[in-house]
Amino acid sequence: RTLLAALPDQKPDPLLALIKKFASDDRPGKIDLGVGVYRNAEGKTPVMAAVKSAEHHLWETQDSKSYIGPEGDPTFVSLLAQEVFCDGMVTENLAGVQTPGGTAALRLSAEILAHDNDRSIWIGTPTWANHNAIFATVGLGIKTYRFFDPQTQAVRVDEMLSAFESAKCGDAILLHASCHNPTGAAISAEVWSAIAEIVARKGLIPLFDNAYQGLGRGFAQDVEGMHTVLKAADEAIVAVSCSKSFSLYRERTGAAFVLGNSATDVARGVANFAYHARASYSMPPAHGAAVVATVLADAGRRKLWIDELASMRSRIFEIRTELTNRLSAYMPQLAAVADQEGMFSLLPLTPENITHLREVHGIYMPDSGRVNLAGLRIEQVDQVSRAIGQLL
Ligand code: PMP
Repeated sequence: RTLLAALPDQKPDPLLALIKKFASDDRPGKIDLGVGVYRNAEGKTPVMAAVKSAEHHLWETQDSKSYIGPEGDPTFVSLLAQEVFCDGMVTENLAGVQTPGGTAALRLSAEILAHDNDRSIWIGTPTWANHNAIFATVGLGIKTYRFFDPQTQAVRVDEMLSAFESAKCGDAILLHASCHNPTGAAISAEVWSAIAEIVARKGLIPLFDNAYQGLGRGFAQDVEGMHTVLKAADEAIVAVSCSKSFSLYRERTGAAFVLGNSATDVARGVANFAYHARASYSMPPAHGAAVVATVLADAGRRKLWIDELASMRSRIFEIRTELTNRLSAYMPQLAAVADQEGMFSLLPLTPENITHLREVHGIYMPDSGRVNLAGLRIEQVDQVSRAIGQLL
């Protein structure tokens, strides 16, 4: 019985393959709309000024690299909770752990959800590709509902709500807190209330993926819909990524929170997070979380960070508005792209269109048609719109 030959073939990550293709293209005007990170007007993903300042402070003051434990840094967890939740929610019925990025927060969430064999998780399509892998890996039953229509650029509200109506008590529903990846589609306040009502009536467990807070409408606004649902839920989980909001991608910084009915219950939730953390990565890396805690604990650094985040958000918004103005001249439905939020939108392009854009115009995006607006410089919008518009 062989080991390696018996393993299944694994397809390379299509986004990583696209990055390689882009790197080997030597046309000077090539444009990368595939990458999943924020880029500034110079096409760079810089270290935020508040992060640099925090790192400087840590370098001067950190006096040990000793272990911190599977739950991570409790100061980071409680400072982050103040940013993600509203006042009434930060009580003894909320607790969390630091994780290596949002991915590990989702993985720990999947582990505790999978403890009940009868539980399924409802995932909208399309979604971030890794969601499926994370939930499938722990053996959680996955049910899907159609979330978005690329032709109309609208959320399929009725399909989503009727899927939640058909879920069983105790099932989990996965929701993106804001800046939906890959569609950018925003859920209105009325629809968040409708979701909250179903969650409460049917006893569903919302799992929020909060990976882009601050890159949508505003740092506080980006979690308002989530708060509506959390207040209605009996129990809930929130997976937070600091990768985008603090531009800390490679530092692997995030947190998983549970909201429950008692301090005892949430302590049990956290103990189970810690158990699964120990069994896989033992404990999260310290640096990114120490940076975030150092930013959040100091009013000056926090303001520097919030202001820089606001300027990132307005750059994305400017590109979004300019691109929408031009594309909607070719296809009126695309006017809806202006109301979307975050870095991404999903354009109604075929794989043939996408190959054409890459080969003829040097414009790179994955076959899904997801574009990262932050990959564009303002002076490129006209050229890109004309290339895409001809195909619509
Ligand atoms: N959720 C979504 C929707 C994402 O897009 C990402 C990153 N691409 C993550 C979670 C995970 O982020 P990370 O593990 O890098 O913090």
